[in-house]
Amino acid sequence: MTDQAALVSYDEAISRYDPVIGLETHVELGTVSKMFCGSPTEFGADPNSSVCPVCLGLPGSLPVANRTAIEYTIRIGLALNCSIATWCRFARKNYFYPDMPKDFQISQYDEPLCSDGWLDVTVGETAVRVGIERVHLEEDTGKSLHVGGATGRIHGADYSLVDYNRAGIPLVEVVTKPVPGTGALAPVVARAYVTELRDLLRALGVSDVRMEEGSLRCDVNTSLAPKDSGAWGIRTETKNVNSLRSVERAVRFEIERQAAVLDSGGRVVQETRHFHEENGTTTPGRSKEEAQDYRYFPEPDLVPIAPSREWVEELRASLPELPAARRSRLQREWGLPDLDMAALRNAGALDLVAETVAEGAQPGQARNWWLGELSRRAHESGTELAALPVTPAQVARVSALVAAGTLNDKLARQVLDGLLAGEGSPDEIVTARGLAVVSDDSALLAAIGEAIAANPEVAEKVRSGKTAAAGALLGAVMRATGGRADASRAQELILQRLGGS
Ligand SMILES: [Zn+2]
Repeated sequence: MTDQAALVSYDEAISRYDPVIGLETHVELGTVSKMFCGSPTEFGADPNSSVCPVCLGLPGSLPVANRTAIEYTIRIGLALNCSIATWCRFARKNYFYPDMPKDFQISQYDEPLCSDGWLDVTVGETAVRVGIERVHLEEDTGKSLHVGGATGRIHGADYSLVDYNRAGIPLVEVVTKPVPGTGALAPVVARAYVTELRDLLRALGVSDVRMEEGSLRCDVNTSLAPKDSGAWGIRTETKNVNSLRSVERAVRFEIERQAAVLDSGGRVVQETRHFHEENGTTTPGRSKEEAQDYRYFPEPDLVPIAPSREWVEELRASLPELPAARRSRLQREWGLPDLDMAALRNAGALDLVAETVAEGAQPGQARNWWLGELSRRAHESGTELAALPVTPAQVARVSALVAAGTLNDKLARQVLDGLLAGEGSPDEIVTARGLAVVSDDSALLAAIGEAIAANPEVAEKVRSGKTAAAGALLGAVMRATGGRADASRAQELILQRLGGS
């Protein structure tokens, strides 16, 4: 069976084939009520509690479009440099699945609200403009839960449960044009695109974009053509890839798998595939429906959408600063190199650093704390940086205490220990743990006197001009003060005492 053909290595695959990727991203909008009724959209409600006759598809119920959802969709389209339709219709997409109780989904077909835009992404030094084919609005489906099987899929299950809370939640689908020409970078470009789109949607405030809760879901298309042939291969669509890392892995796996199929003289089958988080592979799903299978027709129960140009321009003028522009501005203001900015973004630390700087910290210091010590702590405890129980204001305060000489780096790390343990504010922790740097001359001189008395040979060396030997005495002073001595002042005092300069 060609699907099980041995994989070829990624490098080999890329040396013989050009990949083309495409992404279809579903975004649940953060509106208060559903797309065509007044049922609430809250995540985590009891099954089948957020429903009404409209979203349950009961006979005689009629939909009314949610204006806020239309506004959000136009905002997304404008942020993605799309044209906004002057007039367009919803379409009825017919299919018979239990997750849509009226046996059709209201979507948009050949008249999307937004079309023909782009989103720029950067991978390392490479900039890629990803074309946007369309942005359209539809309603989400319900959710099936298959009980009793080993895999959670319907095959082998004893019975299935359906929850219609999600049925009717406004869903935007953002479809890219095919993206050719990225070569070996295809998997990372796919990931960078979803990352940029997620940041953009978050900045617009139209969705909570939580991939783990399904409010952002990604279908990843991949095809291969013989290198430099200019031809287009047959694409597969890997459905519901639910993390940024999985987007990258899914494309990578499909490139390796399809190369093996083509190498062995086989044909790639056009189909939907499932991605498996546990081993990074894909397996065939159902064969892909064609548009005619859905028998689309204009939705007869809804009036067309005809957004006035004044409204569209008002929405354009009210767009917030978008992530790419914000990153360039912050980089200019902070004076950090490209690599630092990329590292901050990858670590999810950009907003944390921005807030820390807003609380008065130097940008370089804020960067060091979040990317260094705090990233290490987050990694050790297996949590996200933003989930650490440390606020930007606290980091800014620790940074200020270091700048003022009250703390050295070692003591500051102990203050972080206290913050992570919930011992109060940085100042409270400094007091409670007795962490302030000792820079008081009389206390330092007492410790220095003891160090000299305990190390007479070293002291003699320093007296005879070998000032480098003073390091051993400073070490003794640091030990005696539990690392709290002001090192540069202690060094000065040692040299004064022993007649060095
Ligand atoms: Zn409803």
